[in-house]
Parts: sequence; structure tokens; C-alpha cells
Amino acid sequence: MKTVQDYIRTIPDFPHEGIMFRDVTTLFSDARGFRIAIDQLLHPYAGQPIDKVVGLEARGFILGGAIAHQLSVGFVPIRKKGKLPGKTIEQDYTLEYGQATMEVHDDALQAGEKVLLVDDLLATGGTAEAGIKLIERMGAEVIGCAFIIDLPDLGGRKKLESLGMNVHALCQFE
Ligand code: 5GP
Repeated sequence: MKTVQDYIRTIPDFPHEGIMFRDVTTLFSDARGFRIAIDQLLHPYAGQPIDKVVGLEARGFILGGAIAHQLSVGFVPIRKKGKLPGKTIEQDYTLEYGQATMEVHDDALQAGEKVLLVDDLLATGGTAEAGIKLIERMGAEVIGCAFIIDLPDLGGRKKLESLGMNVHALCQFE
């Protein structure tokens, strides 16, 4: 029986030479692969109250939408700067080369809401950390951070755990 990891394709030298890009489109496009990924992402949170699912642009939207539907709760997108039409709050974060900014609508979460944060891949943890900061600035609480893939060598899990986060990932690549 194929595991979630078996459905993920690796593309060498994308987007730059020397990078092994973990391509989850082959997981998403397979009916069984997508279903077991969503089921396994949710597994540790069974029975826990979750008010909203927050997804990080862009593959976190695909996962987060399916998870929110499964839980019958709302979905909130965190987007790269300049994409959201309403009033937003912003959070800068560091990329491999330079800085970027993430945004969320300032009325998307209510104080006290319990949030599950979702993305496809955890590398340095910079993107997820920006998402956590935005959620917490609205007074909401991150009850878990769920990813398909963890790249442990890049330290993201350690970074998020040092912030007190519960981190759940379905597989790892060296
Ligand atoms: P971090 O901020 O943890 O360093 O990087 C994680 C972000 O970069 C995620 O939003 C993820 O979608 C994207 N990312 C970086 N490398 C890869 C990769 O090899 N495959 C995929 N699917 N996403 C990646």
C-alpha cells in the first residue's frame, strides 16, 4: 500500500540549481493520496475543538480548504502582500534571499478562536512563524501546525516547537 510520501514527486534543480523540489501536485491529483493525506493531517486533532483552519499561500489553501470542509469550520487564507482586497495586518519574514510579507484580513479571526494552521511543507519555519504571529496578533490561538512534509535539516520544527507550537508532519525528506 502506498504511503503519503510515495505520492510525492521530487524535481531536481527547481526553482534553482541544487534544490530538490518536493512536488505535492502528484499527491493532490491522486484520489487515494489526497484523501489519506487529509485524514492523516487531521488524525492528532480528533476530538479537539477547532474554530477555524488557516492555510498559507498557496498549497496550504488546497489542504486547508479540504480540512475545513471535513471539520465543518471556516477557512482563512494568509496571503503574500497585495492579494487580499480588504483591510489587512502584515507580517514580515525572512526568505533564503531577502524578505517577504504575509497578510491576513484583520477581521478574519476573532479573539479566543482556536486555529489549525496548515501548509504543505515545513523548511526553515519562517513562513509558518509569520502565520503564527498574524494569528496571535488577532488574539486567536494556534492549537496545531500541520504539514505534509518536514525537512528536519532546515530546523523549522525546532523553531516552531521553541515557540510552544504543536507540530505535526506526515513525512520527512533529508
Ligand atoms: P520555510 O518558510 O519553512 O523555509 O519554507 C516553507 C514554504 O516554502 C512553504 O510555504 C512551502 O510551500 C515552500 N516550499 C519550500 N520548498 C518547497 C518544496 O521543496 N516543495 C514544496 N511543495 N514547497 C516548498
